[in-house]
Amino acid sequence: MIDPHNRRGVMLVFCAPSGAGKTTITRQLLENDDKISLSVSATTRAARPGEEEGTHYFFKSVDDFKHMIADDALLEWAEVFGNYYGTPIGPVEKALSEGRDVLFDIDWQGARQLRDKGGDDVVSVFILPPSSGELERRLRDRGQDADDVIMKRMAKAGAEISHWEEFDYVLINDDLDRCIADVQHIIGAERIKRERQTGLPGFVKKLLTD
Ligand code: 5GP
Repeated sequence: MIDPHNRRGVMLVFCAPSGAGKTTITRQLLENDDKISLSVSATTRAARPGEEEGTHYFFKSVDDFKHMIADDALLEWAEVFGNYYGTPIGPVEKALSEGRDVLFDIDWQGARQLRDKGGDDVVSVFILPPSSGELERRLRDRGQDADDVIMKRMAKAGAEISHWEEFDYVLINDDLDRCIADVQHIIGAERIKRERQTGLPGFVKKLLTD
């Protein structure tokens, strides 16, 4: 018998300027919800010590990566610091069809491409820092960087923030616990959207005919 709770997974796209707390929120979500997994990207850069094939990245040659682009095997891709990075379609589609949610930790450009290809599967969340002063403090706390480096990071954060209106949900991270709870509520509600509940038609039909 078909499980009435069968559903299609959600593509969760999280974007934020660095310093907004996205990494902490992402980590907590992954730890507390075994239905969510992080998308593993393909890249042409060399593996760093400790990085494992298939866990951190799928490491590819430039030729192989270009074949993936030509074969339309990537949901989105970009060239970053001279290397290619992209999201392979196969594992994402498998997870979604099995009712598992996939989390994407990408920038606004990747989010835009995902929305174009992923359509209704995509739910996007933008996380804002509570204030520019707090953002600067968090960026400074990361190391003993020179002022010009901090200023560059602030400018990059500003550029990222300017895309906030492209997202379905926007959170202000002035209270980490509330922010995590909000993200969990978003995911909970998105999971029971009628069109994601693939077990419903059969279930309702049975309700009406039994
Ligand atoms: P790193 O080489 O430090 O792991 O990542 C470098 C940059 O590539 C980061 O800004 C990261 O967000 C970005 N990146 C990693 N995977 C992907 C991907 O699949 N697509 C896109 N567009 N960017 C990615």
